[in-house]
Amino acid sequence: MKKDKLVILAGPSGVGKGTIEKILFEDNSEMKLKLSCSVTTRKPREGEVDGVHYYFVSKEEFEKKIKNNEFIEWNSHFNNFYGTLYSEIENINKQGFLPLLEIETNGALNIMKYYEEKNESSCLISIFITPPSLQELKNRINNRATETEKEIKIRIDKAKEELKEKDKFLYSVINDDAHIAANEIKKIIFKELKNND
Ligand code: 5GP
Repeated sequence: MKKDKLVILAGPSGVGKGTIEKILFEDNSEMKLKLSCSVTTRKPREGEVDGVHYYFVSKEEFEKKIKNNEFIEWNSHFNNFYGTLYSEIENINKQGFLPLLEIETNGALNIMKYYEEKNESSCLISIFITPPSLQELKNRINNRATETEKEIKIRIDKAKEELKEKDKFLYSVINDDAHIAANEIKKIIFKELKNND
């Protein structure tokens, strides 16, 4: 039986995953990607919409979902919980779309482990996005101006750890120019989907 593929776009916070993702969705008719909406306990940023950018829940609601085994992976970082629902991926597959998970590295590694244990690693198109340099990553997080100085330091320290894991991914793409990176990712996805035919 042909198994459903899943795209994981991972990499440190601030590396530009969101920007790349937007570009990918501008011309998506052939790839039929659909973003998997994660659950988080983080407060919405300005402009973020519940059920579109995240399902925003309380810590208690999140803990209930952990207990009910609703997450394929979840992680706690920057004092908040983030998780991917099994049901979200299933629904996207059912609709005939290719799920795209935009998550941080540990969550991605957990999914990779889960698929490995099921002997289904070939279903995963795992892509790690790297910044051109750590300084550039720091600039990007600074420019976003949504985190305090202390939060920025925590994100940079975590980024250093995440970058050590990049070789565990099938592909790694440098995000110097988001359009070039998105184009490279498109080529990877097409190639992988073709291999699946
Ligand atoms: P932000 O708070 O900036 O939206 O996200 C912080 C980090 O959490 C980002 O690196 C983002 O990719 C990651 N993230 C978003 N959703 C999930 C998820 O469902 N699981 C995990 N492990 N990380 C996630």
